[in-house]
Amino acid sequence: MATLVRIPPLPANLGQACYKCFAEHSAAKPISSCSACKRIGYCSKGTPLSDWASHKRICKALRQLEESGSTMSLHFYNLSKTTAGDTINVTELAELTNMCLHADVYSFEQTLGRSLAIPERNLFAWEPRCAACGITERMLRIRAKEEATGSTTQLQKCLDCQTTFFCSPRHFALVKKTHNTVPCAVEYNKLTQCQINRQIREDNRLANLLLDAQASMGDPSDEGSLLKWAPERALEEWQSVATTNWEDQFLGDLTKSHPLPEGTPMAPFLRAASDGLTLPMTILFALEKLAGDSLDFVHKDVIRIHVIGASGPEIQNSMVFEEILHRLPKAQRLEVLLCGPELNMIRQSDRPGGVAMNMSTCPNCQANDRNRIQILSSKLYHDFVSESGNRFTVPDLAIAFNSGSSEVETESWKQTMKVLLDRDIPSVFTSYNRGEAVQEAALLTELGAQLLPSFGPCRNPWGSMQLKIEPGFGRADGFYNSNGWFAGGFKRRAK
Ligand SMILES: [Zn+2]
Ligand SMILES: [Zn+2]
Ligand SMILES: [Zn+2]
Ligand SMILES: [Zn+2]
Ligand SMILES: [Zn+2]
Repeated sequence: MATLVRIPPLPANLGQACYKCFAEHSAAKPISSCSACKRIGYCSKGTPLSDWASHKRICKALRQLEESGSTMSLHFYNLSKTTAGDTINVTELAELTNMCLHADVYSFEQTLGRSLAIPERNLFAWEPRCAACGITERMLRIRAKEEATGSTTQLQKCLDCQTTFFCSPRHFALVKKTHNTVPCAVEYNKLTQCQINRQIREDNRLANLLLDAQASMGDPSDEGSLLKWAPERALEEWQSVATTNWEDQFLGDLTKSHPLPEGTPMAPFLRAASDGLTLPMTILFALEKLAGDSLDFVHKDVIRIHVIGASGPEIQNSMVFEEILHRLPKAQRLEVLLCGPELNMIRQSDRPGGVAMNMSTCPNCQANDRNRIQILSSKLYHDFVSESGNRFTVPDLAIAFNSGSSEVETESWKQTMKVLLDRDIPSVFTSYNRGEAVQEAALLTELGAQLLPSFGPCRNPWGSMQLKIEPGFGRADGFYNSNGWFAGGFKRRAK
């Protein structure tokens, strides 16, 4: 049986779940931390032999970091004036925390002599820190040693969410009110950070349950296949997706297709499903807003969508794109181009024009002769367009999901944006958070796009409901989600 490669989830990175089997701490299965590095925990006493081989090097490097390198981060800590009187300088705290995080990752990579894999990075990104001053338990131990006090204090945690930490009752008092009573700075359904943290933990538990179930059935799929669900129903006529929401559109069908024991909360299942469904629903919302009153796409025979910068998530969720057909009863054919260099593992995807595949559809679509074509290209989109020559057809929508174009590969993205503008291709960009959305909007404006007000930058009502904690942020404050924001949408250049 193939072994599942699972990335340790948040609780394991917080030392509150077994780093090997991910079981959360309970009276029956207590978690005790590795006595050498004190950074991660295991459910049986000490590090099980079976995991020691993989943990050994990291464990040793963590100890070295504590003995030497991380005095650098302690230095940053001492510099910090993040808490003066009874206010926290949030901006300064975030900056200092990020500096500490980068310093730690850098010296850790030096020690190991290689760059870190994602699970290793997560050990730093999600290392528990005091929400008021950013100090970690490692720093507390170093300080106790330097000051020779002999006694080390441990971080305490918010008992409601177990995800926010503080180093002293005074620092807890400083953050408590914001944490528990004020809707999160990046507003999301008016939830407080504590509520968001609890929701993330709940999602985590469901993910573990589903993965355990998959593993016990011998299904070696990865986490990407968690819940690729879309309802198998076709609507008889177009219904606006601009004035409705996840619950109204999907909760009923989800409950019907997942007969679970009475009283099972469906919300975590809906959130898990939304992580895939955000792709077709964001596309439909974008089509509707771009069309304005004309709603011309509703009457089309063929719908063409170009997904720019496509990668794993779009491939893994390609089945749920059928939801587009299911909401556009007049469409006979859906053509989705997935285009991006990360698709280079797919055979022949480097051919000009990509490689086209006929996708299977539900019985209802089959009976009605409705087709779904997926074209895969590992080219950069601007190269794809130029190599297609006069065979290129302008799509109904080009969309870049969570492109991060303002963060990485910006020059390449600019070339793509220019092609979109040169060819008057209706385009929409989404991002993980507000910061990225604002920067991306600036980039599009700089290149001359006439941004449409419907796409803000503003929240996307069809962003994934599955929230993720921003790594490395001292206060474990804020979150991001797939397609959480629209960065911008345009049909042409500004005149
Ligand atoms: Zn375990
Ligand atoms: Zn260890
Ligand atoms: Zn503190
Ligand atoms: Zn809390
Ligand atoms: Zn169908």
